[in-house]
Parts: sequence; C-alpha cells; structure tokens
Amino acid sequence: AQKYVLTKHFQGEPKRSDFQIVEEKLPDLKDGEILTEAEYLSVDPYMRAYMIAYKLPKDMIGGQVAQVIESRNEKFPVGSYVSGEFGWRTHTVVNPNTWKTSKFLPINIVPDVSPHPLSLGLGLLGMPGNTAYFGLQEICKPKEGETIVVTGAAGAVGSHVGQIGKILGCRVVGFAGSDEKCEYLEKELGFDRAFNYKTCNISAALKEGAPNRVDCYFDNVGGEISTKIMTAMNKFGRVAVCGSISSYNDPILPKVTIVQPAIVFKELKVEGFLVNRWSDRWDEGVNMNLKWLNEGKLKYQEKVYHGFENMVDALVGMLRGENTGKAVVKVK
Ligand code: NDP
Repeated sequence: AQKYVLTKHFQGEPKRSDFQIVEEKLPDLKDGEILTEAEYLSVDPYMRAYMIAYKLPKDMIGGQVAQVIESRNEKFPVGSYVSGEFGWRTHTVVNPNTWKTSKFLPINIVPDVSPHPLSLGLGLLGMPGNTAYFGLQEICKPKEGETIVVTGAAGAVGSHVGQIGKILGCRVVGFAGSDEKCEYLEKELGFDRAFNYKTCNISAALKEGAPNRVDCYFDNVGGEISTKIMTAMNKFGRVAVCGSISSYNDPILPKVTIVQPAIVFKELKVEGFLVNRWSDRWDEGVNMNLKWLNEGKLKYQEKVYHGFENMVDALVGMLRGENTGKAVVKVK
C-alpha cells in the first residue's frame, strides 16, 4: 500500500512538500476483515481545516470509494464497493464491524448506480449529499414559498442544497465564485438567481434576488458575506452553519462586521452541525438522494482529477474553486 503522511503543518495553501508518500506492508486478513483497493479518493475542505489540529507525522484523512479485493466478512464480498474514511491511501485492511464505533462515519456499501459513476458515493450519494439533505431540512426547516440563500452554491454541498430547496418549492438564491458557475446554477440546476460573489455588490444582489428577504441561510463560507446575508433575513429566519471555507487557507483572519445585532433584532436561530449527527439515518438520505437522481430532480457535475500522485493538486484546486460540484480523484 501507498499512503500520504502529513509531515509539515500547512502554511496557507497545502503543498506537495508538506507530505511524504510512504510504502506500507499490510497484514494478512483476520476474521471479519476486508482488503480494499481505492478507486476514487475525495478531496474536501475539512481536510484543510482539520489537519492543523493533529500532532505530526499523521496519516492523511479522507473518504474513498474502494473495491473489496479480499474478504473475510460475508457482508462485504469480493468485488463489492464500499465508501469509508480510510484516508489518502491505495490499499486498506479494515474490519467494518468494529469500524463504526471509532470513526466519524460507518463503512457503507456503495450502490451500483450505472451509468452514473461510483464516485457519487463521495458526493451526491455520500457525505456531501447527506450534509445537504439533513442540514437543510433539519436545521433550516424550509417551508414552501420561503426564500433560501446558499453560499458555496456551485460546490458539492451547495449545489445539492439549492436543488433540494427547489424540490421543496422554495425560492433559491446562490452565491458562487464565477459567472460560468452562476450560469450553470440558473440554467441547469434551476436556481432562481445566482450571483458571482467576487464581482457583485452582495447587498444589492440580495435585494434583487430575494425581494421577500431571506428565510433560510445555508452557510458554507462564513466571513463578511454571511454577515450581509444574515442582515437581509426575515424575523425568525434559520441559519445552518455548515462550514467557513473563506477562512480555511487564511493565516490572518479578515476583519468581519459583527453579526450579533442581526441575530438579536431578527431573532434568528443559528445552528452549527456536523453531518455525522445523522449517521443513524444515513441510508434515508442516500436513498432519497438516489430517488431524486433517478427522477431527474437532482443533477450533478464532478471535477475529476487523475492519479494518486496528484492528490495535493486536487486538494489545492478544490480550495481555489476549480470545481463545479464534487471534486474527486480517480486513483488508477
Ligand atoms: P465545495 O465542493 O463547495 O468546494 C469548495 C468551494 O469553496 C470551491 O469550489 C470554491 O468555490 C469555494 N471557496 C473557496 N474559497 C472560498 C472563499 N474564500 N470564499 C467563498 N467560497 C470559497 O466543497 P464542499 O461542498 O465539500 O463543502 C462546502 C462547505 O461545507 C465547506 O465549508 C465544508 O467545510 C462544509 N462541510 C461541512 C460539513 C459538516 O458536516 N458540517 C460536511 C461537508 C462539508 P467558488 O468558486 O464559489 O469560490
């Protein structure tokens, strides 16, 4: 097996020299264990944020879709595909029965959804898909006719949130980082309006895009734009704080207008969440997202990078916004 080990803490953008690729000899399988071979590896924003907390050297974290190539566990036969948080590595020996209790998410069988790619197990039918599914519905609780605003709108979670908003009969406004992304959101995904946050005036965009003001805000990015959006909310609006990618790469935090007056005077409900809160309902989210996919109600794009040796480029590319939809790496 080959694996990435982080040996230097990130300073600004991650660099190839922050990692070593290490060869590892894997043990023979014991009862209950499986040997998997990675097919797709995930690059996600949390990797940039979480790795600062670890003592180094530390094996790189991350999800993958992998094929079972040896098995001593009848629930996971040879040839099946699983998703699991195995990290940036090519081969893994694990026991799925004992894994669940110790890790963020359980190991799941990835359903065959051909002609769609297996990589959907890392996106629409995986962790980001369930982040959108549960985060929007359980935290924002949108009602038909209400206005939802989502930032990071063209990414894996954001593009999914907006489409669920449309399924629920809401007005959906997105903010994303390029005109092409905004065109995709409006023309392909059915967003009512999408604005390029890098070039627009946020407050004017909100007036135009959300004439009845904002009832639900799904916050993927944090920072100043979030203060502006929360200031444009209706009384008793609901905010799902999902992430704050605008600050992950910045060693110096930018000055942000204080958000508390908007929260007080509009009596907002602001709640952070981690998607593993719903790990007991994981299949419900995957099955509903699959149903919507099959009904043509959910569309997706992926940015596919190629090669195990290019993991760092993929991570940096995603953080820079090269991706529309989920960013994944095809290992072979
Ligand atoms: P995305 O697919 O959205 O990729 C990241 C995107 O972030 C980029 O494409 C880029 O798009 C945007 N971005 C980068 N820098 C900035 C910036 N300075 N300001 C605004 N946008 C920026 O990633 P995910 O969908 O996987 O994740 C989205 C968010 O959800 C992240 O904050 C992540 O941490 C969070 N998350 C939280 C989970 C939870 O359990 N709470 C679970 C999963 C994700 P653009 O071109 O638009 O700038």
